Amino acid sequence: MLRLSVSRTIAAAGLVLLVCVAAHPPEAQAWGNEGHRMINRLAAETLPASVPAFLRSDAALNEIEYLGPEPDRWRSHAEPELSAAQAPEHFIDLEPADALGPLPRNRLDFEAKVFAAGQRPEKIGLQPWEATEVWERLKAALREYRALQAGGKDTRGVEAAALFYAGWLGHYVGDASQPLHTTDKYNGWVGPNPNGYTTGHQIHWQFEGPFVAANEHEADVRAKMTAPKAIDGDLFDSYVAYLRHTATYVEKVYQLEKAGGFVGAGSAESREFTAERLAAGASMLRDMIYTAWVESAKPVPDPYAGK
Ligand SMILES: [Zn+2]
Repeated sequence: MLRLSVSRTIAAAGLVLLVCVAAHPPEAQAWGNEGHRMINRLAAETLPASVPAFLRSDAALNEIEYLGPEPDRWRSHAEPELSAAQAPEHFIDLEPADALGPLPRNRLDFEAKVFAAGQRPEKIGLQPWEATEVWERLKAALREYRALQAGGKDTRGVEAAALFYAGWLGHYVGDASQPLHTTDKYNGWVGPNPNGYTTGHQIHWQFEGPFVAANEHEADVRAKMTAPKAIDGDLFDSYVAYLRHTATYVEKVYQLEKAGGFVGAGSAESREFTAERLAAGASMLRDMIYTAWVESAKPVPDPYAGK
């Protein structure tokens, strides 16, 4: 979804608020409703058979798909505190984030760094921390599932929890395949502009909303997904690498926009590009769910080991 900058909006007068809301369709959502639902469904549909059946059943696919847009349902003015706190979790502007040095692994360490620089986290974004934390919730639930199952106990409660975490996670992983969620050029070019890219505030929603809804189909996106794999090594580092790969396509989005690629049916190139980005989100989500399952079998490290 377009960044309805909460701090800016709250700080602004009523007139500005009205203009802001009018400029961005109220139904606007990151990747739009259609893109998020597609990413979540494709991820769940392509999970390896070693992942428990409760995450792959028809009912699970429907629930995980439904949850694709879930965090965008938390942006309502009816829940202003929730909206303000979670809005920055959908994006990260890597330019100002990197200007502060290496990204710390913990959310609060990053926030402390941002505040110390006289800035605000909601301006820069909290994407990789939210995604990592929700992934860890999923892993914890799957570890609990394994323990209950091993003890011959009822697993229905933990299955519902794990399904929710998997679907919730999908939203952020999906957002992070959209290049405009990784940059301060999130809705109009900023800074030196020798190529004359648009500085208007339409490109973000134009690309991820109506264009996807009108032109992107599940079969085409599915064909561009990678083969399933468990993610090796550190999840936070892998996730940040995924974000940085997405960020390499920021200028491409502006080039396509300049060529009229997001108007109407766009071009073969813009449709292919967008399908690949949706597929990247679906592939990463599938691999993160699979990795949570694999990692949930590992013993919990002993914090007192060697002390
Ligand atoms: Zn979002």
